[in-house]
Amino acid sequence: NDDQFKKVISHAKEYGYVFQSSEIYDGLSAVYDYAQNGAELKKNIRDYWWKAMVQMHENIVGIDASIFMHPTTWKASGHVDAFNDPLIDNKDSKKRYRADVLIEDYCAKIEAKIDKEVAKAEKRFGDAFNKEEFISTNPRVVGYYEKIQEILTRMGKSLGTEDLADVKALIEELEIACPLTGSRNWTEVKQFNLMFGTKIGASAEHAMDLYLRPETAQGIFVNFLNVQKTGRMKIPFGIAQTGKAFRNEIVARQFIFRMREFEQMEMQFFIKPGTQMEWFEYWKEYRMKWHLSLGMGADNYRFHDHEKLAHYADAATDIEFKFPFGFKELEGIHSRTDFDLKQHEEFSGKKLQYFDHEDNASYTPYVLETSIGLDRMFLAVFSNALVEEELENNTTRTVLKLPAVLAPVKAAILPLVKKDGLPEVARQIFDELKWDFNVDYDEKDAVGRRYRRQDANGTPFCITVDHDTLEDQTVTIRHRDTMEQSRVKITDLRDIIKKEVDV
Ligand code: ATP
Repeated sequence: NDDQFKKVISHAKEYGYVFQSSEIYDGLSAVYDYAQNGAELKKNIRDYWWKAMVQMHENIVGIDASIFMHPTTWKASGHVDAFNDPLIDNKDSKKRYRADVLIEDYCAKIEAKIDKEVAKAEKRFGDAFNKEEFISTNPRVVGYYEKIQEILTRMGKSLGTEDLADVKALIEELEIACPLTGSRNWTEVKQFNLMFGTKIGASAEHAMDLYLRPETAQGIFVNFLNVQKTGRMKIPFGIAQTGKAFRNEIVARQFIFRMREFEQMEMQFFIKPGTQMEWFEYWKEYRMKWHLSLGMGADNYRFHDHEKLAHYADAATDIEFKFPFGFKELEGIHSRTDFDLKQHEEFSGKKLQYFDHEDNASYTPYVLETSIGLDRMFLAVFSNALVEEELENNTTRTVLKLPAVLAPVKAAILPLVKKDGLPEVARQIFDELKWDFNVDYDEKDAVGRRYRRQDANGTPFCITVDHDTLEDQTVTIRHRDTMEQSRVKITDLRDIIKKEVDV
């Protein structure tokens, strides 16, 4: 909901996670900077992905291709002709909308009606309430679901063609049925290309038009044969990479959910034609397991299989996550056939084929891709972690329950008081632990306030040095989520922390 989302945004700023870019100049829309804690969290997410995808897979290797690519790349990939968003302007409010996003917002409104019906029935039937059964039999709810399905099908059909008149008609109908924008006066729907252009070269005559890459995938396709040969890779094998991508998003909103400069984590898996459905299922399951391994709640994820497929795909699904503004795409898993390699063969005139020794034949591999936005994953993790807890003494505490493996700071070392030699001992512990973990030293304010600060910052452990420490070489270790404290030996700290934060 709106309130929760506002809290997420202000917490991200207050605790040094995400700042608006160029804030002193009033910012740049849909561009953000990661601050001291945000950069750590982002790096930890990237590493967690890289470990699962590259390190744990003998047959997947990682590369780091350039942002700039030969301009023909984007002709071959279809981005020059078809990487468009359908835009519609409201003549009254002068506001511009992405037509497909607007239609999804109407659907979300209908979904909210379903939620209301469910909540009402739950109240009425109490313990006897069976949600599944209710959803599939209640005529009103079934009607809402059918309506959503119909809207999405109609939108899909129309967006797949040149004729966008029905998209406009659909928006007009929906605005009457469930008002959202408050105005009914729309322009035609127009397609708008999302790529940023720039130039390479000093002199005007020799300058060459370039694009900033709108996805990282093409850097992998054009390197396919180089990697396969030099790495002596045998199909099936994958190439992974993480890196920046740029899109001139028109409806830039929802904080770091939709940015103009963002980072993707992609893996293209090269397979034998005909095996794509097996691999599609494999990667669907694997990627969902990866998400669930972070312990952010199975209820917060769902698959959304695409009915309308992009021209290059023969199967596609999204992993959607429950953001504060509802379920939205977090990751895409696409079966891209041999479309990309074939296109690059055609445009470059170079063969991009694989010789299969077992079959004694060459073929153009098919590709199965997993593609997730790092920033979107950051938002999923961060928004899910932020909670306000009522404590027994009627106070509340703000705590950022980040998965320990992703938390920017793993432990804070706190001397109980700033005298009697306690800071020196705390510093010693800090200096030992910093070899293995990102740790904090904090001696300012009462220890209770320091605990709260670390809770809000997502630090899984606080380690407090007190007078007993001087006698028996033990410290108090406090767990962020349970607030439980126990007494442990200084020499055991490393293992205790490692057990929680290692995967
Ligand atoms: P959307 O429909 O939300 O615009 P998309 O289907 O165009 O996304 P893909 O091209 O499949 O997205 O990109 C793969 C992933 O990259 C997405 O699942 C998302 O996590 C991320 N992503 C795409 N566009 C953006 C953006 N503008 N800002 C942040 N992340 C993005």
